Amino acid sequence: MRRTLLPLLILLTLLALLPGGCTPASVSGDHFSLDTIISITLYDTQDAAILQQCWDRIDELEDTLSRTRVQSDIYRINHAQGKPVTVRPETAELLSTALEICKESQGALDITIGPVTELWNFKSSDPQLPDAGVLEEAVGRVGYDRVVLSGDTVTLPQGMALDLGAIAKGYIADELTTTLQQAGCKSALLNLGGNVLTLGEKPDHSPWVIGIRDPEGSASQSLLNLELIGSKAVVTSGIYERGFTLQGRRYHHLIDPDTGWPADNGLASVTIVAASSTLADGLSTACFVLGVDDGLSLLARYEDVEGLFIMQDGSCHTTDGFASLLQSPDPK
Ligand code: ADP
Ligand code: MG
Repeated sequence: MRRTLLPLLILLTLLALLPGGCTPASVSGDHFSLDTIISITLYDTQDAAILQQCWDRIDELEDTLSRTRVQSDIYRINHAQGKPVTVRPETAELLSTALEICKESQGALDITIGPVTELWNFKSSDPQLPDAGVLEEAVGRVGYDRVVLSGDTVTLPQGMALDLGAIAKGYIADELTTTLQQAGCKSALLNLGGNVLTLGEKPDHSPWVIGIRDPEGSASQSLLNLELIGSKAVVTSGIYERGFTLQGRRYHHLIDPDTGWPADNGLASVTIVAASSTLADGLSTACFVLGVDDGLSLLARYEDVEGLFIMQDGSCHTTDGFASLLQSPDPK
């Protein structure tokens, strides 16, 4: 009797000594960076030092990819006056993926949109429309096919400027999964201002439930919920995210590179679900600019990528596989 009870008692004592007893350990935190609030919850550890490693990695990548920080690779490329610039491996990797999506979307995503976005001061408290002639001239300096990426060297013609705003957050989210995996964390939920990423499985093995924002509602109001298994990225580009209203008209931050004006095709938001957050982020902006029909055709060329297009009139369009991601109705 004693022989069988002893190991059980030892096991129970050990479990009681574990932090939080038998309840799964978790830790979460917020960090302001990349012009947004970043939230991370780790579900299989209570080690706050891992969160700090994430904040440090985000800051490191922002130092590399920011358009405005003078030491960043992007700043150096934009100010090199046409000379080749040697960049960090992360920058070369992101540029390579981004240029691929620019090509696939036939320039609906164009990471050389810098001269145009500079003219749209969406952050101003007193926003003004850019001058139409000046905007048209700037459009002439946009063209991703003029970027030369060769190994770790980038050459951008003088007068052009990179803006990685459409894809950098997605790339940083993907990089954070590496940071987490290296720290031994296998279960986490990351939200980088609308770029959501799930890592692994929840401790109770139930699906991740991710809300898709109702473009008509507040930031916390969901139009529908997704149920996701395992590691997935969910990225939304919406007209509510950044922009201003002048004389009853909404000017948002998703710009048609052909015109320099906000894409005006009746869309309110596009959500992409994919394994890669970089890809989902690039495609969300590209699909928004392309509109429903061309956007769905673009998504059809990718495997395991699903999309939801929400129109300003409230109607929705999706890829064929999107319905399988929707939260199943509660049987109760
Ligand atoms: P958010 O920044 O709200 O997450 P997106 O990922 O869709 O939204 O990126 C929008 C940002 O991308 C803009 O703020 C701008 O910097 C840049 N951008 C806007 N239009 C384009 C475009 N057609 N191609 C590439 N970048 C764009
Ligand atoms: Mg995007």
